[in-house]
Amino acid sequence: MSGVDAFRLDGKVAVITGGSRGIGRSIAEAFRDAGAEVWITSRSAESAAEHAEAIGGVRGVGCDVSDASQVEALFAQVAEASGGTDVLVCAAGLSSAAKAAEVSLDEMRRMHELHVLGSLACAQAAYPQMKERGGGAVLLVASVWGLGGQPGTLPYGVAKAGLVHAVKVMAIEWARHGIRVNGLAPGFIETDMTAEVGPEIKDKLLSRVPMRRGGRPDEMAGPALLLCSEAGSYVTGQVLAADGGERAR
Ligand code: NAP
Repeated sequence: MSGVDAFRLDGKVAVITGGSRGIGRSIAEAFRDAGAEVWITSRSAESAAEHAEAIGGVRGVGCDVSDASQVEALFAQVAEASGGTDVLVCAAGLSSAAKAAEVSLDEMRRMHELHVLGSLACAQAAYPQMKERGGGAVLLVASVWGLGGQPGTLPYGVAKAGLVHAVKVMAIEWARHGIRVNGLAPGFIETDMTAEVGPEIKDKLLSRVPMRRGGRPDEMAGPALLLCSEAGSYVTGQVLAADGGERAR
């Protein structure tokens, strides 16, 4: 397969956690348009169904990724209805702001459970399905704040840095089964997550971005498609910063 056809996902089954909104939703729409059978999640079944209907052409399942039994049920449902998972994107996430001297251990645990353990549970559940299907692609959505230190973001940044490391270990361990594992590190992206950032802080954050603007969620879809399709068939263990040049500094 060559050229633009290598970006197609025809016949692939893709599970996108956090696919109800923001970055995950843009990725879900792009993967659907590329021919994949797409499953998205939201924390409640009602919300998943509503979002799936609004997006169109995708299936929605309620799944809190912090709950291992819900993750297990999600992948069992995908296996039963679609035969298994070929592509997994872990985009479910919440932000957290706290200073290192003050952050509670509970908040550190909450972020770890959601991002690191939640993504790991999904990847572990998808792994045997991908292995059986002769390979697959996993994409963990990290953050530029997991690549470099950002004051006031310790619980979030530590969790995202954990994902960056998980990408590398999983890529090495799973390559022999044809499973590629990569990460996406978005910069400041205009979603519900960043909507509450005040104008002063936003200006300060964007002043470090050479492109001098926040990204749009749909600008995350292309990099995700590259990393999850045949177009990225020799790329594994990498974390791609999609950040308007922020990490070039
Ligand atoms: P968003 O618009 O707020 O969407 C968050 C998504 O995560 C929703 O689909 C939400 O589902 C889901 N979610 C939250 N907690 C969950 C849980 N416990 N179990 C399952 N799903 C859960 O956020 P976004 O900006 O698109 O962020 C998506 C990912 O990109 C996150 O991992 C975030 O950390 C990362 N990221 C974002 C930015 C940015 O600037 N926006 C930058 C770097 C990285 P519900 O439908 O249930 O709410």
